Amino acid sequence: MEGAKAMADLGWKEDGKCVDMDVDIFFEKYEEDIGLRAVIDRMCARCPIAQECLQWGISHHEWGVWGGIYLENGEKSDEYNNHKTDEVWQELLLQLTHDTGQAYE
Ligand code: SF4
Repeated sequence: MEGAKAMADLGWKEDGKCVDMDVDIFFEKYEEDIGLRAVIDRMCARCPIAQECLQWGISHHEWGVWGGIYLENGEKSDEYNNHKTDEVWQELLLQLTHDTGQAYE
C-alpha cells in the first residue's frame, strides 16, 4: 500500500520528459556512465516540470537525479554533478528558475 501511495504521489511525473523511461538512468546508470549523464542533463534542462521535480527530490530527501541535479539525501552531490560544465549549469538553472526567480545553490 505504501508503494501504491508513493506512485500516486509521483503522478506529476507523467508530465515529465522522462515518462516511461527506465528509472535506473537516474540512479546507477547515471553514476556509472558519463556519456549518459550529459544526455540526462540536457533532457532535464528542457523538462517542463524540472522545478517541481527538484523540489520533490529535496523535500523528500531523495537520491538520484531530480530536476537535472543528482541529489544525495536531498542535497546536491558534488561527486555526481562535477561533470557539469558552466554551460550545462546555466541551462539547468534557467529552467529551474524561469518563473520563480528562486535561486538554487
Ligand atoms: S526534470 Fe528530469 S528527472 Fe525530473 S521529471 Fe523532468 S526529465 Fe524526469
